Amino acid sequence: MGSPLPSLACLDCGKLSQGSRCPACATARRRSKERQRAAHRPSPYQRGYNAEYRRNRAIVLADGPCCFVEGCTAAATTVDHILPLSLGGTNELDNLRPACRRHNASRANRLDWEA
Ligand SMILES: [Zn+2]
Ligand SMILES: [Zn+2]
Repeated sequence: MGSPLPSLACLDCGKLSQGSRCPACATARRRSKERQRAAHRPSPYQRGYNAEYRRNRAIVLADGPCCFVEGCTAAATTVDHILPLSLGGTNELDNLRPACRRHNASRANRLDWEA
């Protein structure tokens, strides 16, 4: 009875350790859980709001433009995808236009705003 801590068999590899899993298996298990979480919840990057989007949004909004909707006098605080990402649109400058928060949100993924 030398050891102050009981040795347990690792639940994954069976090696004796001082926890329910040996350090190597505990680390591997934590990593795979993190991967699973990341896969289940798509990051903004995966949805298309990536570095290119952020860069081009800053360019579009750089000189304080007005909302793209005719008659709307609100300052644009966001950008609208002319062709939505969900329909294959890109984050390139020619697919982005300045929009106020209301018009960007209300248009959502519809193409028929002008109709
Ligand atoms: Zn192990
Ligand atoms: Zn607007």
